[in-house]
Amino acid sequence: MTAANLLDFDLEGLAAFCERLGEKRFRAVQLFRWIHQRGESDFASMTDLAKSLRDKLGGVAHIKPLTVLSRQDSLDGTIKWLFDVGNGDAVETVFIPETDRGTLCISSQAGCAVGCRFCSTGHQGFSRNLTTGEIVAQLWFAEHFLRAKLGVSERVISNVVMMGMGEPLQNYSALVPALKVMLDDHGYGLSRRRVTVSTSGVVPMIDRLAVDCPVALAVSLHAPNDDLRNGLVPLNKKYPLRDLLDACARYLPAAPRDFVTFEYCMLAGVNDQPEHARQLVDLLRQHGRNGLACKINLIPFNPFPDSGLVCSDKATVLAFAGQLSAAGLVTTVRKTRGDDIDAACGQLAGDVVDRTRVADRMGQLRRLSETPVTWMSREHAG
Ligand code: SF4
Repeated sequence: MTAANLLDFDLEGLAAFCERLGEKRFRAVQLFRWIHQRGESDFASMTDLAKSLRDKLGGVAHIKPLTVLSRQDSLDGTIKWLFDVGNGDAVETVFIPETDRGTLCISSQAGCAVGCRFCSTGHQGFSRNLTTGEIVAQLWFAEHFLRAKLGVSERVISNVVMMGMGEPLQNYSALVPALKVMLDDHGYGLSRRRVTVSTSGVVPMIDRLAVDCPVALAVSLHAPNDDLRNGLVPLNKKYPLRDLLDACARYLPAAPRDFVTFEYCMLAGVNDQPEHARQLVDLLRQHGRNGLACKINLIPFNPFPDSGLVCSDKATVLAFAGQLSAAGLVTTVRKTRGDDIDAACGQLAGDVVDRTRVADRMGQLRRLSETPVTWMSREHAG
């Protein structure tokens, strides 16, 4: 019998597993706390569990970490890990420290099948979905690594963004239990407002998330009309803007925040002109009866080889932001973090065997030769 990886379970799943072993629910709570709050992976060290249970667990379960292939530390404190997920696939996870928070950017898939034109991950193609355990293991490892590094016992990671490699809503069945582990008071105890799922617009799954596990929602918009968005975010052909914005409006009553964040990657000469800003204002202000409650996050593009795209210049980004703000849309420009280690938005590439060939590799990814856009951003664009 294959040993169960306990990182695959939310608390309900772990309780069911313990019941199958003839153990009561409170044992599952104890076990869950040992794993997630104390970072313990050795059953023998879980001293308040009965010896008989520890022995039993040793035969049927384990806590399976991901193997770290590399770690890079940015000058600004950002840390990027490359984790081995087997069979030639590796995914990236990024920690971004700020004065008032610590944010972990987590991957949900090895590669991505959406294939957004401006995204390094999208250019790699898709290998497979990560399991719940592989999603949770990124947080489990990072949280306890950081506590040890900083010599603290309290929580270091206060925010999680599902903005690493992959489209989280195309890995829904693994995503939801992972979110529940993050939110559980016996797990990481994160606020729903501080856990963000970022999607390129998988409309049916936005509706399901509102019911199953509502957390903060970010949507990769990147274009103010369907023609342009079809070319940048291919999923738009299946779920066009009107359907996507309708889904956002339906999500809001369940959401922990009273707005949706729209991410908009600034691409020189592609989507950054005054006409695009005007269209964006109309799109969002004229949606429904009162417009859509939202914030817009402008992300200056982080170029990578073979993308064929260039970042809008600073003046253009600020002018675009000004136009949106003047029309009453709350607009921010994302700051760059970790660009010296290719950890910035849209740069996460990992190492993925493209098993679908949906996106033939567009040349070998090389380190950027362009001057980094140091006045802005980090985070993935999708
Ligand atoms: S931006 Fe997100 S959804 Fe689009 S290809 Fe990249 S990882 Fe996938």
